[in-house]
Amino acid sequence: MSLYFNSDHEMFRQTIRRFVEREINPFVEQWEHERCFPGHALFKKLGELGALGVSYPEAYGGAGLDYWYNVVLAEEVGRADCGGVPMAILVHTDMATPALAEFGSDELRQRFLAPAIRGELIAAVAISEPDAGSDVASIRTRAVRDGDEYVINGSKMWITNGTQADFITLLARTSDEAGFKGMSLIIVPTNTPGFHVSKKLEKLGNHSSDTALLAFDDLRVPIANRIGEEGQGFGLQMQQFQKERLIGSVSAVAGMEKIVAMTINYCRERQTFGKALIENQYIHFRLAELLSEIEALRQLNYHCTRLLIAGHDITKEVSMAKLKAGRLVREVADSCLQFHGGMGYVEEYPLARYFRDSRLLSIGGGADEIMLGIIAKYAGMIGKRR
Ligand SMILES: Cc1cc2nc3c(=O)[nH]c(=O)nc-3n(C[C@H](O)[C@H](O)[C@H](O)COP(=O)(O)OP(=O)(O)OC[C@H]3O[C@@H](n4cnc5c(N)ncnc54)[C@H](O)[C@@H]3O)c2cc1C
Repeated sequence: MSLYFNSDHEMFRQTIRRFVEREINPFVEQWEHERCFPGHALFKKLGELGALGVSYPEAYGGAGLDYWYNVVLAEEVGRADCGGVPMAILVHTDMATPALAEFGSDELRQRFLAPAIRGELIAAVAISEPDAGSDVASIRTRAVRDGDEYVINGSKMWITNGTQADFITLLARTSDEAGFKGMSLIIVPTNTPGFHVSKKLEKLGNHSSDTALLAFDDLRVPIANRIGEEGQGFGLQMQQFQKERLIGSVSAVAGMEKIVAMTINYCRERQTFGKALIENQYIHFRLAELLSEIEALRQLNYHCTRLLIAGHDITKEVSMAKLKAGRLVREVADSCLQFHGGMGYVEEYPLARYFRDSRLLSIGGGADEIMLGIIAKYAGMIGKRR
């Protein structure tokens, strides 16, 4: 019985659960092997299900529902048999499009948000650069005005959906002001001359997700492609990051629960020294401990969701959730792999993939240390007291 989800949320949950079981899990091995999932085919199906714009305005084809539906989507795709495809989907729904949906002009939303919700266009978000990841304020990609166009030069690193995206939400410098000032968020269609995928990156995990180094070479887009006012980009992206971090943590909880449940089953079946592994107090205590921490994180995520829906600033709480999620997935992956013995180390079992894929959470979307810095600042330990 849930305090947060009504029967409509639960129906949506069943729809996404079936979709993951039928349209994603049977193909995970192949997509991981091919180092890419078929984004356009999969997103079209998700669009037809109404999964890509649950809380976006109906005027653009969204369902106009509450953010708990996004939470349900993240929980259900988070139960998939890999980390790559869920990440690609959630980048599209909750990381690359929130600023566009909230602050984009009507025309920009008709051109990009509506087809993204239908699953016809794939979105990516491009903030990080080869020389600027954690330190977003030091990005160098420039968008210089020329008449009614921006001329964009620079590069972006680590871009999820980077080889398949039809448009990217780009953070670029639009003035000479230093630091946080003078940046804008701009929608860049990837079929524009001057857009290049310089390199598809080989990674430790999330193999089914394409990650790319991108380059912009005198690329021209209309000034009308800017989201919000010129110079507001950093602030808009910081807001967008809050949903990214929340959804990352929500999806991690679902994945952890699935892995712990699988490990409990395995330890019930596996016999050593004449009894089931689960009978060892060390093992069932450790799994009980992990379940308790997962539940605590779930409740923090739900608290953040309630605050978000009520219009509060969730920066402090969501940074705590993202930090905890990044650290907890590493503990869960390590303990569950350990309790599978050799079976945890082979590719026949999902543990090895989970171990690789989950490692990203402490780095992507703001590293653990960046979350610690934000929490310390909000707690008044450093910087301006709030
Ligand atoms: C698979 C993958 C997908 C990604 N997808 C995207 C995407 O779609 N779009 C996008 O824009 N970016 C994306 N990223 C980039 C990601 O957000 C960055 O990797 C992350 O922000 C860290 O930046 P960095 O890699 O440049 O590390 P750096 O900034 O060089 O930091 C390295 C390490 O130093 C430590 N550190 C940094 N600063 C501090 C500090 N002040 N105090 C203490 N320690 C510190 C942290 O441990 C950090 O991990 C992705 C990354 C990966 C690996």
